[in-house]
Amino acid sequence: MSNYRLQSKIGGGVTPIVVNNNNFSKAPPGKPTLLSIDDVRTLFHEFGHGLHGLLSNVRYEQLSGTQVLRDFVELPSQLFEHWFLEPSVLRQHARHVTTDEPIPDALVAHIKAARRFNQGFESVEYTASALLDLALHAQTDVSNVDIDAFEKTELEKIGMPQAIVMRHRLPHFGHLFSSSSYASQYYVYLWAEVLDADGFEAFVEAGDPFDTSVTERLYKFIYSSGNCLEPGEAYRAFRGRDPSVEPMLRKKGLLAEAEH
Ligand SMILES: [Zn+2]
Repeated sequence: MSNYRLQSKIGGGVTPIVVNNNNFSKAPPGKPTLLSIDDVRTLFHEFGHGLHGLLSNVRYEQLSGTQVLRDFVELPSQLFEHWFLEPSVLRQHARHVTTDEPIPDALVAHIKAARRFNQGFESVEYTASALLDLALHAQTDVSNVDIDAFEKTELEKIGMPQAIVMRHRLPHFGHLFSSSSYASQYYVYLWAEVLDADGFEAFVEAGDPFDTSVTERLYKFIYSSGNCLEPGEAYRAFRGRDPSVEPMLRKKGLLAEAEH
């Protein structure tokens, strides 16, 4: 998702110009181009960023759309991904290329079940990297760091299981050190998952993925508010409370399903 022009209310108002460029594979000549599950998820993800830019309704360009804190910017996009496997949405877009039949419910159930594969391992390897990132950036004396010893001590401190290694060992953790933008911020992806899973539960609790009052709050406090509200305050205004970690754990199959 890219902005060609940011929204503002200056000089009579500026409408945003936003594009999604998706690098999907073209089909061979004569064959229809089909999207994989990952392609569709990416399409919804980037369209979520697109909506964040398009629905922006603030005074100043510098505060508009996706110009928010890094640990908040993935909420509108990851939250929007939840609708791609919604049965009523699937019936519209996921149709068989020759028969035009909608995707069978049993296949959707398999897709949902497959998303939980290996989530215990992946959560531990990711979280270890995020916690060591924070521990490393909390160091005040960096004159004599033995990075291997540091890693070993910190992993012991958090009780890292022997059978799992960090997703990124510290000596090659380029994500953190290639620029300052992700320094001490590797946690943001998982934090966004906490927010998106908890945020979507508002629709589950309302019993309708298109519930009007939840949608209105989502529009007002998240998709249109840019960087004008403190993110915690914006989230509470939308959800009525602080985010809770349980919906993310349930989504990954690490907690029993809630009863609704
Ligand atoms: Zn994104």
